[in-house]
This record gives sequence, C-alpha cells and structure tokens, in this order.
Amino acid sequence: MSQLLAGKTAIILGVANKWSIAYAIAESYRREGARLILTYQGERQKATVEDLGKDLGAAMVLNCDVTKEEELAATVAALSGEKLDVVVHSIAFANREDLSRPFLETSRDGYLLAQEVSAYSLVSVARAFAPLMTEGGSIMTLTYLGAVRVVQNYNVMGVAKAALEACVRYLANDLGAKNIRVNAISAGPIKTASARGIKDFSNVLDGVAAVAPLKRNTDPAEVGDTAVFLGSALGRGVTGNVIYVDAGFQVMGLATPE
Ligand code: NAP
Repeated sequence: MSQLLAGKTAIILGVANKWSIAYAIAESYRREGARLILTYQGERQKATVEDLGKDLGAAMVLNCDVTKEEELAATVAALSGEKLDVVVHSIAFANREDLSRPFLETSRDGYLLAQEVSAYSLVSVARAFAPLMTEGGSIMTLTYLGAVRVVQNYNVMGVAKAALEACVRYLANDLGAKNIRVNAISAGPIKTASARGIKDFSNVLDGVAAVAPLKRNTDPAEVGDTAVFLGSALGRGVTGNVIYVDAGFQVMGLATPE
C-alpha cells in the first residue's frame, strides 16, 4: 500500500515519553513513511528522547526549549539545508496550582507562563520553521475543548488554548500565500504526563466515556492518524481550522450517563 507521507520530512515538538500525544503522532507518521525529526526540552530529557527517537527511526533529535529564541535559532541552524513539510507543535505548560484552585485566583505570572509556553510558542515556532517549508506544507498544534467551554480545573490552560486557537487562524492567514496550512487538533482527554497535572483528571476521562457519542475515550492513535491527514495531500484544502478528535464529545449538550 502507498504511504501517505512518503518523501516528506516532519519535525515533531513535544515527545516526552511513550504516552505523549506527540509520540502517537510520530508512530502514525513513521507508518506513513515520513522522515522524522524530534525535539526535546533540556538536558534532562535528552537521553529519553534520543532512545525514543531510535525506536521511531528518527533522522535527528534536537534540543529546543520553545521559550528560548536562541534555542529555536540553533534548531533552525542545525536543520540547515533541510526542507520541512510538516511541523507538529504538541507543547503546553501551566503551573500545577493554577489547574486546581478557582480560575479567579490565577496569578499574573502563572497566566503569562501558560500563554508563553502554550500559545505564543506556536507563533515563534511557525516563524522559525516556515522559511524551511520551501514547498509549502502543514503546521499543526494540539488544543482542547477547554478553549471554548468551561471545563472544571482546566482554568488558565483553557484561556491559553483559546489564544492558541486564535493564533492558528491568524497564522493560517499569514502563511496561506506560501501554501503553508495551519490547523489545530482538539483531542479528547488522554492520560499523559501533562494531563496528570489537572486535578481530578480521571473523573474527566470517566465522564467523557459515559456521554460521548462513541461511548469511549480518545485513542492517541486516532489523533496520530488525523495528524497524518493534515500533514498529507489529503488535507490540502484545510487551513485555519480546529478538528475535534474526541469520540464526538463536543457535540453534546445536557447529557446524563446511561
Ligand atoms: P506531554 O506528553 O506531557 O507533552 C507535553 C510536552 O510539552 C512535553 O514534551 C514537554 O516537555 C513539552 N514542553 C513543555 N514546555 C516546553 C518548552 N518550554 N519547550 C519545549 N517543550 C516543552 O502531554 P500531552 O498530553 O501529550 O500534551 C501535548 C499537547 O496536547 C499539549 O498541547 C496538550 O495541551 C495537548 N492536549 C492534551 C490532551 C490530553 O488530555 N492529554 C488533550 C487535548 C490537548 P517536558 O516534558 O520536557 O517538559
């Protein structure tokens, strides 16, 4: 069978471990024949992500803290001569205490930190890598329903995701003339290291599985396969969009578990 991403190079930011959504995306990309470049944040993660990169057959594994312009510039320099086709931004961070106490209590520093890592970084990543996308391509990020609805305890991250989704639309407009598409995948809740920072996250998983039209949670591989669609020629007409991969949960209004 032909592979949907054969001949394409994808840089994937946000693989921390095998449970990361970015790892599931990398697995789908590998299956579809993409050449993979992974990044990690800081020395602490280097060995782990290099090992994961070996498992995935990654061509390169690079250090890149997205809050540091000099590290983004060094990553671009390390990619000199490369043509990129796909950029996957699968990165977010907020202080743990801001994901448990009332949103009203969010500190200025906590608010700005969540915005910087989880929303602004898409802008700096797109600006850094777009010049390497010389034949056009696809940039995508990961978002969550808490951007558009109140989800208990998601708080400051919901506000950051709202900004992120707006960034997707403005970047899609800026980069469209270069045939670079920019989209977000809104994934249903998935048990990952980041998700464990949200208070009562297991209740969210149970609640979604009980009322979502598909009566189950989201499989990370489903997110990976949607990322393949967006990164491949199949997604060539889609930009500026948020695609929900959430077992249908976002269409539900008032719902009582059966
Ligand atoms: P994850 O495995 O913890 O991935 C988050 C990644 O962000 C980690 O690799 C982390 O690196 C990285 N990161 C944080 N700050 C960074 C920085 N300054 N520079 C570079 N990388 C940085 O959790 P995940 O759930 O897969 O999250 C991936 C994305 O999916 C996030 O945007 C998240 O909001 C989104 N999402 C998750 C869910 C869910 O339920 N899990 C649902 C919808 C959307 P370190 O580990 O080294 O800090």
